[in-house]
Amino acid sequence: MAFSLETDRDLQPLNSFGLPGRAAQFLTCNSVSAVREAVRLPVFARAERRLVLGGGSNLVITGDFAGCVLAPRIAGFARVGETADAWLVEVGAGEGWHATVARLLDERLPGLENLALIPGSVGAAPIQNIGAYGLELTSRFHSLQAVEIATGELRSFSHADCRFGYRDSVFKRAAAGQFVITQVTLALPRRWSPVAAYADVARGLAQRGITDPSARDIFEVVVATRRAKLPDPAMLGNAGSFFKNPVVGAPKWAQLAAEHPEIVGYPQADGRVKLAAAWLIDRSGFKGQRCGAVGVHERQALVLVNHGGARGSEVLALAQDIVENVQARFGVRLEMEPVVV
Ligand SMILES: Cc1cc2nc3c(=O)[nH]c(=O)nc-3n(C[C@H](O)[C@H](O)[C@H](O)COP(=O)(O)OP(=O)(O)OC[C@H]3O[C@@H](n4cnc5c(N)ncnc54)[C@H](O)[C@@H]3O)c2cc1C
Repeated sequence: MAFSLETDRDLQPLNSFGLPGRAAQFLTCNSVSAVREAVRLPVFARAERRLVLGGGSNLVITGDFAGCVLAPRIAGFARVGETADAWLVEVGAGEGWHATVARLLDERLPGLENLALIPGSVGAAPIQNIGAYGLELTSRFHSLQAVEIATGELRSFSHADCRFGYRDSVFKRAAAGQFVITQVTLALPRRWSPVAAYADVARGLAQRGITDPSARDIFEVVVATRRAKLPDPAMLGNAGSFFKNPVVGAPKWAQLAAEHPEIVGYPQADGRVKLAAAWLIDRSGFKGQRCGAVGVHERQALVLVNHGGARGSEVLALAQDIVENVQARFGVRLEMEPVVV
């Protein structure tokens, strides 16, 4: 059988924060047809709560889940065509994101190297339009296939259908909770050029004396930078960046820049300015702070960590404290990035 059903499954080893919780029902699906069948099963279709689970690296589990979890563990990696600008590669939702980036590089299909070492599955990458080091998935995305939960039908989503934004897509908005993504088709540029302007990438290349970087050079710089800056979830539970970088209008930016001349901001094409949430949190005194079993990472203020034995409620309480302090000090509302379950 292509899907399996378990009861009372422990979710703690399945989320990168290492937060406790058990799922009443847990369906594992190894193929698209298994997902189509599974979503029609009463245990899933009539469940009080439903969760599609990838690698569990962007979740805050708040306790037992009295519903049905569906894990699409669909494998697959195939070149499926080309456009005028790109090679198209279809990848199964259950493939690991980093392993896919590395494999593409090995197969001389560069283009995703800036997104190396992001944990999680390929199927989750479009959900929040993953991004890092000057690149977002949207620049390398062609289309995806997803099973509609209400009907069990397989649907195609074009690039436009996904309505990508900063850590955002239609799957966090109008289509939230309605689809299981089964395959993602990536678009790797036929004429590759490095994305190397991001400060950490430029610095890493300069330190290595590289002036004309290959995709492999960028991959290695990104991996080394991430290893130096971000805690490894296997050692210290976390979900990566806990807050999105807030974007403010020009008048608000002018006010903040006048009050805090050293504030960090990145002008956007639409005239607004993206603030560095890490800077706001650091200046609010949270960097390296510990509060019981949870804390703010000592090297990266955007990352909340589980020092061992934390519960989801403690993570959310610390997050709330940070949001209120940043709001009081800067008049800026931080928005959480991970999904609360
Ligand atoms: C150390 C660390 C570093 C990180 N760095 C980055 C970074 O640089 N940039 C970045 O953007 N993110 C980053 N993240 C966040 C995370 O890795 C990404 O959001 C990743 O895409 C989540 O994948 P996942 O498979 O673990 O998703 P999960 O955590 O399992 O799920 C996340 C959301 O996607 C939904 N989902 C998952 N799979 C599917 C599917 N097949 N179909 C439909 N819905 C689905 C879930 O229901 C949930 O709502 C980081 C996390 C960690 C722990």
